[in-house]
Amino acid sequence: MIKTPSQQRYESMQYRRCGNSGIKLPSISLGLWHNFGHVNQIEKAKQIITSAFDQGITHFDLANNYGPPPGSAEEVFGKILHSEFKDYRDEMIISSKAGYTMWDGPYGDWGSKKYLVSSLDQSLKRMGLDYVDIFYHHRPDPQTPLEETMATLSLLVRQGKALYVGISNYGPSETQDAISMLREMGTPCLIHQVKYSMLERSAEKGLLEVLEKERTGCIAFSPLAQGLLTDKYFNGIPAESRIANSGIFLKQSDLNQSNMRKAEQLNQLALSRDQKLSQMALSWLLKDQRVTSVLIGASSTQQIDEAVGAVKNSYFDNDELNRINQILDS
Ligand code: NDP
Repeated sequence: MIKTPSQQRYESMQYRRCGNSGIKLPSISLGLWHNFGHVNQIEKAKQIITSAFDQGITHFDLANNYGPPPGSAEEVFGKILHSEFKDYRDEMIISSKAGYTMWDGPYGDWGSKKYLVSSLDQSLKRMGLDYVDIFYHHRPDPQTPLEETMATLSLLVRQGKALYVGISNYGPSETQDAISMLREMGTPCLIHQVKYSMLERSAEKGLLEVLEKERTGCIAFSPLAQGLLTDKYFNGIPAESRIANSGIFLKQSDLNQSNMRKAEQLNQLALSRDQKLSQMALSWLLKDQRVTSVLIGASSTQQIDEAVGAVKNSYFDNDELNRINQILDS
């Protein structure tokens, strides 16, 4: 039986304006990189998406290659969307991306017009959608002229296949160039998707300044450092964990002394704020108004509940901020 979404779904989530656009994003967004492929149980995937939507998470982030196998996260999401949320498409911001290897041969990767146009067509088919809300170029392409890639993003908006466009993993000067080019083409760059967490702060070295100056949104991916910024690994590697189940992107070697010492010290500070470490890690990003949304992953509905709880307290006093910097720099 199809469940009706909670009537209270917009009561506790906060929404932030994305740059100087008309769009607001939830402070917490959900990404489908892991846990939504054909290898996963669709019932569980459904529960996680339902729980997210019930708590005001209106933004779901995908990419052509999410799975495994590649493409399957979009298929699973499309199935769930059409079976459970048919009447709620207009309450959702759905994004997809292209830029990493998707199919064999010279046209299934990077940033050519040929690849991006075909890839978005495939993504729309897999999800059963007429358009995505945001389409990203997933990573910079050192060989394709930036003009070609940006002109293609602009074209896809004019064709109505994407409402907005964004870029991901671009450095500060590439970002500046991309934003300027898109503006000249009459298609503003809505948002930049960047890896940003307490353990990965390179966004602070120029990128956030460019986004602030250009009034472009920022969505921080892997804000929990894939689980390192939680209490998950304090007593070894649980069977239900990214390291145990995949071990490709987050590895056992990431549980090194330095990361674990930082996580344990941060955990003490989080407890003194009445937060879990995972919540403090999200709040710490959200204290900065330049961050439009934090883009989490989740393998259970409890993880969604915990993340949503972070929205309640994104205030840090100076002592807390200094202590966090001290721990991270140690
Ligand atoms: P996170 O850093 O939020 O890591 C999520 C993982 O951490 C979960 O799957 C879960 O793993 C664990 N976790 C989450 N909450 C808790 C909790 N409360 N307690 C214990 N463990 C917890 O983000 P992801 O790395 O998953 O990335 C999020 C999204 O960002 C992706 O889905 C994708 O949309 C986007 N992304 C974009 C990239 C890009 O190049 N643009 C690259 C990577 C991600 P488990 O329980 O399985 O151990």
